[in-house]
Amino acid sequence: MAQTTPNHTQTVSGWAAHDSSGEITPFIFKRRENGINDVTIKILYCGICHTDLHQARNDWGITMYPVVPGHEITGVVTKVGSNVKTFSVGDRVGVGCLAATCLECDFCKESQENYCEDLQFTYNGIFWDGSITYGGYSKMLVADHRYVVRIPENLPMDAAAPLLCAGVTVFSPLRDHDLHKTPGKKIGVVGLGGLGHVAVKFGKAFGHHVTVISTSPSKEKEAKDHLGADDFIVSTDDQQMQKGKRSLDFILNTVSAKHCLGPLLELLKVNGTMVVVGAPDQPFTLPSFPMIFGKRAVKGSVIGGMDETREMMELCGKHNITCDIELTSPDKINQALDRVAKNDVRYRFVIDIANAPAATVDDDQICSNL
Ligand SMILES: [Zn+2]
Ligand SMILES: [Zn+2]
Repeated sequence: MAQTTPNHTQTVSGWAAHDSSGEITPFIFKRRENGINDVTIKILYCGICHTDLHQARNDWGITMYPVVPGHEITGVVTKVGSNVKTFSVGDRVGVGCLAATCLECDFCKESQENYCEDLQFTYNGIFWDGSITYGGYSKMLVADHRYVVRIPENLPMDAAAPLLCAGVTVFSPLRDHDLHKTPGKKIGVVGLGGLGHVAVKFGKAFGHHVTVISTSPSKEKEAKDHLGADDFIVSTDDQQMQKGKRSLDFILNTVSAKHCLGPLLELLKVNGTMVVVGAPDQPFTLPSFPMIFGKRAVKGSVIGGMDETREMMELCGKHNITCDIELTSPDKINQALDRVAKNDVRYRFVIDIANAPAATVDDDQICSNL
């Protein structure tokens, strides 16, 4: 059932899943009035993240239907609240995964809002006013300005959209290990998908030697010729894995399928670190010997804080980094989600919201939604 929160008076057209079939259909709903800390954004583009698929289909058992997915949003500011000094009407902006955090804990104070215990997501979250948040598969968004970032003028708004989730997810661990400012390291990127391909671009832009590690030999040419990777290891090829032992300073593991971390850890030098950003629904296999006999560490990381999202965007502007995308339209979201489920996309779908007609639904549905 749609929400009926006071002040939610703006009618918006969007696209939602209504049950665990995950099928996305047109949906008319309400957003809050633009508050004093808010900006209203006319959405131009929204990326399709793997998370959208999980949430639409209730894979994690936490979906509140109807759900309007989308947390890789770019658009133009159309309204600003009286407290907002950092944005003006007409600004090109982006919104990622965060809609609200507590603003008071140590993590919020240090702009690591992504680790706030009270963080609420851009969709399927609960905003400060008690309303359920609706995401970027829609024509318009009202967002608190503290969770909004500027998109550099030289970046196209469609290919910049996935930077808001995929981009910052791989940037944050690189930054955390000072790899954005200490060039010349040997970095491994496991998995060449939506996350991995941006990680390779960052690695090269920051002056590192980048090795892609993948189960698919067919990706070698693309990794090297198109993305600029220096080396490629087929993880199912024992000889190649042997040759790569103790060669890497740092590994970013983007794979979201169940796998064993042991052979990958062997690729790290002594004292090296692997950061895991993929989220398999089954536990990893983690043998102790490669950790103990190489003093190696395995860590996790989730998206990024707002300051580092801003820093990432500036660096993307400076180095001209965007995602490689396939543009799609709202009426083809279901086909796109099916292909995302099969990892059949290079490397991210982005929905062209700007050029789509407003969602239309039949009268019955409008009544029950409003
Ligand atoms: Zn995402
Ligand atoms: Zn907090």
